[in-house]
Amino acid sequence: MDTPSPTLNSPQSILKQYFGYDRFRPLQADVIEAVMNKKDCLVLMPTGGGKSVCFQVPALAQEGTCVVISPLIALMKDQVGGLKVNGIEAEFLNSSLSAKETAAVEQKCANGSLKLLYISPEKIFSESFQWLMGKMNVSMFAIDEAHCISFWGHDFRTEYTKLALLKENYPDVPIIALTATADNLTRKDIIRQLRLNDPEIFIASFDRPNISLDVLPANKRMQRIIDFLGRHQNEPGIIYSLSRKSTEQMAMDLKAAGFSALAYHAGMDTESRTRVQDAFRNDDVPIICATIAFGMGIDKSNVRWVIHHNMPKNIESYYQEIGRSGRDGAPAEALLFYSLNDISVQRSFLVDLPEEQRELQEAKLDRLVQYIETPFCRRKILLNYFNEDYSGNCSNCDNCRNPRNKFEATVLAQKALSAIARTEEQVSVSALSEILYGSKTQHIIEKGFDKIKTFGTGKEVKPDNWKLYILQMLNLGVMDIAYDENHHLKLNAKSKRILFEGEQVFLVEIQQSFKARTPGTRNIVADQDENVDDKLFEKLRRLRKKIADVESLPPYLIFNDNTLWAMVHEKPDNEEAMLDIQGIGVNKFDMYGKLFLDEIKNFFHRKSLPYNPSEKGSTQQYTYDLLMLGKSPESIARERNISLTTIYSHIASMYEKGNPMEIEKLLSAKEQKEIFEVLKRLGVKSALKEIFEALDQKYDYGKIRIGIAMYARSER
Ligand code: ADP
Ligand code: ZN
Repeated sequence: MDTPSPTLNSPQSILKQYFGYDRFRPLQADVIEAVMNKKDCLVLMPTGGGKSVCFQVPALAQEGTCVVISPLIALMKDQVGGLKVNGIEAEFLNSSLSAKETAAVEQKCANGSLKLLYISPEKIFSESFQWLMGKMNVSMFAIDEAHCISFWGHDFRTEYTKLALLKENYPDVPIIALTATADNLTRKDIIRQLRLNDPEIFIASFDRPNISLDVLPANKRMQRIIDFLGRHQNEPGIIYSLSRKSTEQMAMDLKAAGFSALAYHAGMDTESRTRVQDAFRNDDVPIICATIAFGMGIDKSNVRWVIHHNMPKNIESYYQEIGRSGRDGAPAEALLFYSLNDISVQRSFLVDLPEEQRELQEAKLDRLVQYIETPFCRRKILLNYFNEDYSGNCSNCDNCRNPRNKFEATVLAQKALSAIARTEEQVSVSALSEILYGSKTQHIIEKGFDKIKTFGTGKEVKPDNWKLYILQMLNLGVMDIAYDENHHLKLNAKSKRILFEGEQVFLVEIQQSFKARTPGTRNIVADQDENVDDKLFEKLRRLRKKIADVESLPPYLIFNDNTLWAMVHEKPDNEEAMLDIQGIGVNKFDMYGKLFLDEIKNFFHRKSLPYNPSEKGSTQQYTYDLLMLGKSPESIARERNISLTTIYSHIASMYEKGNPMEIEKLLSAKEQKEIFEVLKRLGVKSALKEIFEALDQKYDYGKIRIGIAMYARSER
């Protein structure tokens, strides 16, 4: 078949047809409008924010080829694979292709059949490609990971600096630069270096509301991780630890506890690392125990959780690492463990830095510790850190779900301070905790600390909790810690005011238990229903995996988790209902829609759940009743929270059953004429999709159904 000539469809219908989504996310539509008006654009959106749609939709709406420059060669294959399953003509060019494959792609470039070409920055300036590009009709350049051009960013690439030439050589081709790195310096640098021409700048919120945030003290960490994993069977996730050795140990321990887990760190050879990444990407192994080396080259959208076994070095790293979860927008969880020991370790990494840098990094570490200690909404603290105003409360962090009380702790502080004084400021946090609780450990006895007056005066608090309270006290400046003197605790001016002048101290209760988040994905009506939903999800997940293996694609590119959950909730039982599901474009529907429909039907058949045919009638009746009240299909769709396509189908079917209505109001004379002409040619019994295509994809499926109903009646 010939490649269809470029369709000049509206962005909205392209979004539905190719990507299966009804609505743009905030900012996407604005960016697309600017790009289509040939403006240069800079787009800042968090990971998972939906940057790709911002250039993919205009690429499809315009003539010519959109050239996408990306430094992440390892991801291009999947990105292009994802476009192809959506029925989009796309290819990539980079050093991983053989000469033969390269020639085939170049051929497609030359004949203009590609809507998108992904290319590495090295390749784009090769002589052969420059020659080829001179002959191509380039609609726009999209520069992904645009921060790589900046020295200030965390990921500078020399090859990216050459991209300045694009504007020089192709002054009329608009450039859209995209990144998830928000800071001001990098932003200005991108604009300057790419020579963007009076660009429109779009800055999305960096909030990731679907990621729940939890912070827990590190005691009983392994048991807590095992409990957590027990609640997340088969859900892919990453456990970050500090050392290579601990990633390996963790993977071993988890295997011993019956989980499927692999380790990943920079000390492994390339081949093993690729193997682990692939196993994770393809849902063969759900759990990866990794150092922070893991994640850069991962685009997997269905990572459902991230655990920090050890505390990261600052809020930027933390946010980047947890941001690898929940890219598909479905609920995800971030769980951070912290301990005093981790803080000391992180601090020890900084000692050799030049003073100015060290102070900056220490200040960043302090901000992370404040985040950990805060009794307030954690999302608020995070977003404020990135200079975004957020009023809170998010109700999706531990502090919002389970508010912690402040209490007056002056006496606790006085006990601690007095013990520091009596040990002549020669104790660490853990020794102090033991003294206060009254533990006769060898170290305590050797030092004679069991003889001091304050020994055992804090029996009411367990040593682990003493440590956490002391950490809070340190944050409040109740005492100091001398990192260069064996981490011994020291009294300061505030300590003296608390001891002798009755200055009050307030602490926050310690979060001891992990309260699971309120379910978000699962539309629970009753426990039993949850069970049914979970089981159906599991079936669909397995089907997805089977298809993915056959197609040699990662499962999340077949359908993402959100789309599978939408199937579980909507339980579509016919093709139209299936097409209504968010994330099912026309091409995916053709390729996999039937398989998933059958799986869903099968599931309920085998479970022999009562099927209630009257329900089908009643939902249509309800739409009809609202229509008779004078409401428009659009407002009914909004009111019922059902897609417009479905509402139109309800109306069409009520009309077919002979219910009176002013149907002419729903199709303009012109629309009616165009649809009728096609129906005359193809016949009313043709597949909806064929009619849709014959109409140049101009009309929503629902409208076509209305047309068919009218046509059928006029024929009678
Ligand atoms: P980014 O590149 O910003 O990290 P992606 O472009 O990969 O994000 O998009 C993240 C996820 O969001 C993908 O699964 C994508 O299909 C989905 N998505 C994008 N736009 C929309 C939309 N308008 N409605 C629903 N889902 C969307
Ligand atoms: Zn919150």
